[in-house]
Amino acid sequence: MNDANNSAVPAGGPVPGPVRVRFAPSPTGTLHVGSARTALYNYLFARHLGGSYILRIEDTDVARSSSEHERSIMADLAWLGLEWDEGPDIGGDFGPYRQSERSAAGLYAHAAQRLLDEGKAYYCFCSQERLEEQKARMLARGEMPKYDRRCAALEREEAAARAAAGEPATIRFRVPETAIEVTDIIHGRTDFSSGVIGDFIIMRSDGGASYNFAVVVDDIAMAITHVIRGEDHLTNAARQVLVFQAMGHEPPAWAHHSLIMGPDGAKLSKRHGATSVGDFRGMGYLPSAIINYLALLSWSPAGEREKLSKEEMVGEFELQRVSKSPAIFDLQKLNWLNGLHIRDLELEDLRQALVPFLKAAGGETAAGGEAMGIATGAEKSSGRLAVAETAVQTSLVTLAEAPGLIEEFFMLTPLAESEAARELKEEGSGAVLEMALADERRWPDAGDGSAEAVTQALEAARALIKEWKKACKQSDILPKRLFRTLRIALTGRESGPELPFLLSGLGSGTIRQRLQAAKEFTS
Ligand code: GLU
Repeated sequence: MNDANNSAVPAGGPVPGPVRVRFAPSPTGTLHVGSARTALYNYLFARHLGGSYILRIEDTDVARSSSEHERSIMADLAWLGLEWDEGPDIGGDFGPYRQSERSAAGLYAHAAQRLLDEGKAYYCFCSQERLEEQKARMLARGEMPKYDRRCAALEREEAAARAAAGEPATIRFRVPETAIEVTDIIHGRTDFSSGVIGDFIIMRSDGGASYNFAVVVDDIAMAITHVIRGEDHLTNAARQVLVFQAMGHEPPAWAHHSLIMGPDGAKLSKRHGATSVGDFRGMGYLPSAIINYLALLSWSPAGEREKLSKEEMVGEFELQRVSKSPAIFDLQKLNWLNGLHIRDLELEDLRQALVPFLKAAGGETAAGGEAMGIATGAEKSSGRLAVAETAVQTSLVTLAEAPGLIEEFFMLTPLAESEAARELKEEGSGAVLEMALADERRWPDAGDGSAEAVTQALEAARALIKEWKKACKQSDILPKRLFRTLRIALTGRESGPELPFLLSGLGSGTIRQRLQAAKEFTS
């Protein structure tokens, strides 16, 4: 392979008509973040240009593929917000969209027959043993192993008759002697020589199509204009160019993006920790943060911005701005972006996103159980949970951290067990408590926990605290005494959520009971 990169990025092959791209996962496992990035680049590219983004399931490896994996990949793509325009579930004009169904419909066999008829492919009857011996001999001579073309010379009718009579046979592509040029939008131009490519199998002896053949048959049938995928497929592109040409079609424009590496420079794998989209969902990452992060792994918009919504990325995405440098996975940066995306959520969306995490953590303590009960609708919706969720929103890195922080609103330490309660005997505390108790009618209440009720309660709490501060100043009570007294009285602890959140969230029943108990404690 001779890498001849041009400094100017070529635009790729001629592309008539509307843009059509495909994401073509093999359902042999769950969706890896690397594949999610491939899907994302296809999605952004298509949406930016008003084209179509197609989901094609490449399930020809029957032993390793499963419909369960297919379902989970589709669920993860949908969760990420990468909805497709055509696919196995929704159909489209270019179906079927599963290779197993295309195979059953005879589409690959039909295409292979055409190549046989035109002499561009031939039956091969060589046994596995013979092929292995031949390979070993070439390796021993220090040569690149490739098929020695023994069956290429067979007479066409005779070979067809043998195959028709049931003799096991593969179909091989007759690789022409030619220079192969793959002009890639990200990599520039790469020249391959067909001399190193042996006559490869396009149909296996069991009647199934090989990957390099099925992909080209499908890309032609589905009118794919751009193939965007990982650079591990760049050498496949050389074979695929030959098949396109043999079938009388211009190849699509190619764009092979770099792969995701771990911090040690090795391909990102389980060894590095979380790798699947499902892992990251379970750890409390938002889909908007994941796609933002994955996009930036080798693409950048003009300017310095890093936090981008899906819509903003669609508006700006260009393959010309995708770098071919390896992409190193950086959890710190994903964490940073996740925090920013969490801050951006509307309260209702945050509450929704937190439900599974509260549910998972809920069984552990009575307080957690109460929070969970409210989150899942088993208990009456309460302003306390909504205020708690609002309070933690600004400090979360992942959603999974929320239950621990929210519990502080539900797990109030009784004063009798509180070390901090001693401080309630300090001068000024009694006056603070009396003042707060006297204002009972003005205590805020977040009611049903709607975003509006929470906002109003917080505003009221801040206004009330401001007035108490003024009153304290007139009585020579330091602000510190005001804040510490109320916090300790309400929670039994010295640290925790800010006072406006406590006052808005706890509800007047709890506030009254805690302030009264604290007052008894002062004397
Ligand atoms: N099924 C292939 C894979 O999962 C897709 C290759 C392609 O996009 O051509 O790697």
